[in-house]
Amino acid sequence: MKKRTIVKKVKYIFVTGGVLSSLGKGIAASSIGSLLECSDLKITILKLDPYINVDPGTMNPFQHGEVYVTDDGAETDLDLGHYERFTNAKMRRANNITAGRIYHNVIQKERKGEYLGATVQVIPHITDEIKNHIRSVGKSGVDVVICEIGGTVGDIESLPFLEAIRQFRFDVKPKDVLYVHLTLVPYIKTSDELKTKPTQHSVQKLREIGIQPDVLLCRTERKLSNSIKEKIALFCSVEETSVITAMDVASIYEVPLSLEKEGLCKIILKKLGMKPTQPNLERWQTINQILIKPEKEVRIGIVGKYVDLKESYKSLTEALIHGGVGNNARVIFNWIDAEDLEKENGQVLLAKSDGILVPGGFGDRGIEGKINAVQYSREKKVPFFGICLGMHCAAIEFARHVANLKNANSSEFSKTSPYLVIDLLPDQDSTGDKGGTMRLGEYPCQLRKNSNAYKAYGKREIEERHRHRYEFNNMYRIQMEEAGLVFSGLSPNGNLVEIIELTDHPWFLAGQFHPEFKSSPMIPHPLFRDFVSSSLKYKNNNYK
Ligand code: GLN
Repeated sequence: MKKRTIVKKVKYIFVTGGVLSSLGKGIAASSIGSLLECSDLKITILKLDPYINVDPGTMNPFQHGEVYVTDDGAETDLDLGHYERFTNAKMRRANNITAGRIYHNVIQKERKGEYLGATVQVIPHITDEIKNHIRSVGKSGVDVVICEIGGTVGDIESLPFLEAIRQFRFDVKPKDVLYVHLTLVPYIKTSDELKTKPTQHSVQKLREIGIQPDVLLCRTERKLSNSIKEKIALFCSVEETSVITAMDVASIYEVPLSLEKEGLCKIILKKLGMKPTQPNLERWQTINQILIKPEKEVRIGIVGKYVDLKESYKSLTEALIHGGVGNNARVIFNWIDAEDLEKENGQVLLAKSDGILVPGGFGDRGIEGKINAVQYSREKKVPFFGICLGMHCAAIEFARHVANLKNANSSEFSKTSPYLVIDLLPDQDSTGDKGGTMRLGEYPCQLRKNSNAYKAYGKREIEERHRHRYEFNNMYRIQMEEAGLVFSGLSPNGNLVEIIELTDHPWFLAGQFHPEFKSSPMIPHPLFRDFVSSSLKYKNNNYK
């Protein structure tokens, strides 16, 4: 008998933003995703970024915030981090596409003659490329694709994307597409009123392009009264029940609950012609109870380079918050500029921390300060967690001060050091040239039994995400091991050092990978959870 393949009907939700940036479109898209998952639907989320960079890998963290890395090694926009933290959707390269990538694809096709000599234009060629990409993501076996459009309505750059999503409704059935628009309803103190005009203008801008929003998420610091909702509904041609108060909340993890208070999930499902169900939000409720009223508190010193720009450490700070949730504790961040630790008496800045973390980074600024932080943690037996560059600093510190390798360094920072304990590895696939390419994405790692790493994960085989060029130099493995360093995580063939630890210390662990990319409030990453719990023990003098 001929096998019948059932083609799943996929629904598409497009999330746009207006009035100004930073209203939390990524969190809104993630929260919608979570609400749908809590209603037993399978979702994925896609981010369309209107800038010309082909991917965000080389973008300055000062301008763009963190580069988020997926399992398949894509360097993506930080919103993908929110998507993975809020939902079970696994992000891959295809979940983030930029205007640069779209144009690049179209130009390549044109060069290959695929347009048969036609004049290649924004409409239909660029818009077709965008729509094909959205559709391809819809083929991943999901019920709903949520698609966030970066930027703000009215930006020149966003136009091809907005045009593509306008057309999209007519390519599929109108009922299969929903437009959600996030806007601002500011509160004006002097007149004690909420103002709807920015929202009206923003929706007008959308409608000029031909998109009539179905749902408005109105970011506001005061609850929208019925009369305000009525007014917005009237001016924007949106049903009054679909004007949603998107209230400012203390934690991003409160957003799904806050939106659901307005009945968002049912409204979305109904409009998409799906069975409206009540999402099960128990797990969000538990997380929020801890976040609002934790039993304990712990201070973590973060020794970094971009301490003024917290967006560049987004996944890291979130993972620490999750580690706190896992211990019923609030994590207070003690941001320490690494360069300040290079000054005389700089160490006093570390004194208030119950645990010290040296995160990933690039370039030599503040390196000696980070190494000082490692030395302090090691000698004073303060729990220490090193991530990527933080592991390099830990290895260098140990080499210099314990293994007698004076002036040890990484070849990223020194050309003259006699002991390059961190170095570029010869490229394994080539002729032995010094490899300069990044190790990106998920790699397996085997853990040594009885190590802190093994205790945290509770298993021998793990996979973690990487983004770095330099590695531990195996030439120094025996010497450092003899001096007391434990190599508790190695690549399966034993060639790459993935985790180092100390034994005569309550919790000193540094990894070559970025565990922060795999943490979520529902499942705090085991290393962050254990780092926070050992910091809590340190705080309570349990180690002294
Ligand atoms: N700069 C270091 C390297 O390239 C570490 C990178 C990181 O911390 N992500 O190897």
